[in-house]
Amino acid sequence: MRDVFREVCSIASWLVLYGYSFGFSVNNLSFFRLGSEKMSFFFCREKVFDYFCMQNCTIRHMAQLSNRLQRLAPSATLAMSQKSSEMKAQGIDVINMSVGEPDFNTPDHIKQAAKLAIDENYSRYSPVPGYPNLRQAIARKLERENQLHYQPSEILVSNGAKQSVTNTIMSLVNDGEEVIIPAPYWVSYPQMVKLAGGNPVIVEAGFEQNFKMTAEQLEAAITPKTRMLILCSPSNPTGSVYNKVELQSLAEVVLRHEDLFVLADEIYEHINYVGHHESIAQFPGMKERTIVVNGVSKAYAMTGWRIGYIAAPEWIVKGCNKLQGQYTSGPCSVSQMAALAAYVENQQCVEDMRQAFERRRDLIVKLAKDIPGLEVNVPEGAFYLFPKCSSFYGKTTPNGSTIGNSTDLAMYLLEEGHVATVGGDAFGDPECFRMSYATSDENIVEAMRRIKEVLGKLQ
Ligand code: PMP
Repeated sequence: MRDVFREVCSIASWLVLYGYSFGFSVNNLSFFRLGSEKMSFFFCREKVFDYFCMQNCTIRHMAQLSNRLQRLAPSATLAMSQKSSEMKAQGIDVINMSVGEPDFNTPDHIKQAAKLAIDENYSRYSPVPGYPNLRQAIARKLERENQLHYQPSEILVSNGAKQSVTNTIMSLVNDGEEVIIPAPYWVSYPQMVKLAGGNPVIVEAGFEQNFKMTAEQLEAAITPKTRMLILCSPSNPTGSVYNKVELQSLAEVVLRHEDLFVLADEIYEHINYVGHHESIAQFPGMKERTIVVNGVSKAYAMTGWRIGYIAAPEWIVKGCNKLQGQYTSGPCSVSQMAALAAYVENQQCVEDMRQAFERRRDLIVKLAKDIPGLEVNVPEGAFYLFPKCSSFYGKTTPNGSTIGNSTDLAMYLLEEGHVATVGGDAFGDPECFRMSYATSDENIVEAMRRIKEVLGKLQ
């Protein structure tokens, strides 16, 4: 199919260049005319040729990429963020609410520990699963904060929680096996499952059920091929938090099915506005079935340091260690020492940032509720608002185009309102869109003013 398309492109380009041309040359560039008798345009022949060559090359090269890669979709959140950076580079005042990272700087005592690590020559390969003292510190953290008892041998440190999730899926999921993912989901989960050769099974848990999957939905989705459930709480993109009762009812279903594992992504653990974080690993029998994923990225404003970890049964850690050993080796030595400081030193910075996020959550919810046509839930954690925007579908923009879906709406908000958000399609929920409120109060106020204004122009 790709080959046919390539040929059609090629023939079309030659037709345009030679069939309908009439032209002249300036400075070694030739121009040709295209159009009707009433109106015509001149095109630069070389530029058009370059364009078609580029298209053809892109298509040819795409076909040469592995099948594995062709199964993957690019990250929509990164794409939106890139588009907003391009607009900023053109001098447009864009407020970027598409990114998933705290806007705070890494606390000073953590940066200090990294500087010391450099001076102390932490410049060599670390053990593949991470330095023993960091793994010990993570075990103590799990004990202290989650009442979960892990040995350092049950912990593996990786290049961010993203690698921890990928390692786990690659280590446990076989070709054709199913992984249950409640939607809305973090964009990368289904792609990672596909990369491993597995089949993502999406269970819809929409706005009306506060974006949380019920035990009945889980039970109904399980088949003999189900290998894993991915649970993210607090959730990206919705901010929903599973409480202890809800987790227990999910755990009861999991325990009824042998060989079913839970990947519990708890990366937003500390950004919680409803009290103590609960892990599904806490219930009797569940520690053996759970891979807890966490890291320093969100709690300590350390997204760029790339340190995440899993806490899991030792045989799973050994499997992931084998994979990581062949793939990336241990994570950055200096970052590990910074993460060590994050876990063992004063935790006040975590609470300070949490409080700032909670204040911003209250602010954005209040402003969003004031926008006609948006339906707003109150997120209980993380730093995202995921309002329902489907009432705007079918409406027309001032320049005459139609808003067909959430991606169209996000594009309209970016182009007309200069606010970057992400359409819910990317997260498996086409009725909503995501705004990150990990930005200043002034930005939140101005962004919501712009969104209200441009949504008000839709007819
Ligand atoms: N899980 C979720 C739900 C996330 O939102 C993110 C980051 N956006 C990650 C994992 C990855 O975290 P890290 O930056 O530590 O790789």
